[in-house]
Amino acid sequence: MSDVRVRFAPSPTGFVHIGSLRTALYNYLFAKKNNGTCVLRIEDTDQARFVEGAIENLIDTMEWPGISFDESIDNPGDYGPYKQSKRLDIYKKYVQQLMDEDKAYPCFATSEELEKMREEQIAAGQDPKYDGRYRDYPKDKAEQRMKTDQYVVRLKVPQTGETIVNDIVRGEVVFQNEVLDDQVILKSDGFPTYHLANVVDDHLMKITHVIRGEEWLPSTPKHVLLYQFFRWDLPQFAHLPLLLNEDRSKLSKRQGDVAVEDYRSKGFLPQALVNFVALIGWSPGDGTDQEIFSMEELIEAFSLERVNKAGAVFDISKLEWMNGYYIRTLDEGQLVEFLQPFLEDAGIDTSDKEKTAKICLAVQKRIEKATDVKTAAKIFINDVLEIDEKEALDILKEETARAVLETFLEKVNTLGHLDSDAFKPVMKEIQKEKGIKGPFLWKPVRVALTGAESGPDLPLVIDVFGKEKVCSFVQQALEKYV
Ligand code: GLU
Repeated sequence: MSDVRVRFAPSPTGFVHIGSLRTALYNYLFAKKNNGTCVLRIEDTDQARFVEGAIENLIDTMEWPGISFDESIDNPGDYGPYKQSKRLDIYKKYVQQLMDEDKAYPCFATSEELEKMREEQIAAGQDPKYDGRYRDYPKDKAEQRMKTDQYVVRLKVPQTGETIVNDIVRGEVVFQNEVLDDQVILKSDGFPTYHLANVVDDHLMKITHVIRGEEWLPSTPKHVLLYQFFRWDLPQFAHLPLLLNEDRSKLSKRQGDVAVEDYRSKGFLPQALVNFVALIGWSPGDGTDQEIFSMEELIEAFSLERVNKAGAVFDISKLEWMNGYYIRTLDEGQLVEFLQPFLEDAGIDTSDKEKTAKICLAVQKRIEKATDVKTAAKIFINDVLEIDEKEALDILKEETARAVLETFLEKVNTLGHLDSDAFKPVMKEIQKEKGIKGPFLWKPVRVALTGAESGPDLPLVIDVFGKEKVCSFVQQALEKYV
């Protein structure tokens, strides 16, 4: 193991945002690539946001695409516990140290008072900001009041000068201290805020690289100040570009799914999602246009230097394409295992294993996600032939269509059994006897069996249908549409 230690530090809120999956993935890839350690730390200091079962769901959702952690809440290594709500005494100690060194101070302002301050600032055309009213409150008075009154502890941010964040992705980012708030680091309920707990833990857990979403960049100067106040070495920072909707607004639920669980339940394969998510905000460079990467290949190719600065558009059609690609790489066993629950959800009886496998193979090339089986497998459950497409109807109106279908029916009727092997010789015989070939021969049969001009391979369809259904559909085509 190298010294490289990274962490994925989610605040579990019930579902896993696709952006969190990317953050976890990049941390994982970076750790693996550098033979380092990837830590899962649960940041649950905001008790108001606690959701029952969220941690279990989070771990399960990460395991699904193969993201694992070397150290986690059940397996904390040397620096646990890895759940912040179990570390409150540690944070209090560090808050006390900052207060003792006059780098933090208690603030007794009530929420009403702060609300009034904000309103006045806004009315005066200023950006709302804590005005430092308790910054220089006499120490002895403060100590007295801390025994009886509610208070928070704030960081004493320097009022002049600048704080520089060196970021692997964004380069040097300079923040003017005068615009930074005196950040609350300990809340009145005795819980630390994200900022304090995050920095203390990253230090104590020996994190070398902080890889997280760009939404945390504005917080980072406050973190840098904390490191300086504690006289601790800084980790390296890498802020990942925002995920955007097609219209370049911030990726939001309103414009599509944002939860990993939604993609899972819609029938995306974990390997497709990982491949896709890896490429939003990162590219392998080296002049290749390779788009398909296994997890091993991603580990091999990954580097933080090749993470983009600019926001990254979440292109759902590309994800669907990629998922279709991965579906086509599945062998029969994997395909059936993957599609079976979706067939059942679509009301298709899967008790006949052999038939289920045939349906899966027949739709394999036709779907981009597993929920597409609902439409793709419709022909396998309908007993009535329905043709709505004009192009398909036109094919049956061709002069030769009747001859093809009638001869087909006659020949199949004389067979004891029809499967894909018996099907091809039948077609050959019709071609020979009637002198009809190419699309004039094949298309009427396709339309009669599937109701459409294009669809699954006919031999696969025939294997699922069997003789009786094939004859019934050709008969219906002759009666209703020819
Ligand atoms: N708890 C923060 C979150 O929910 C962690 C941000 C960070 O990685 O520092 O995303």
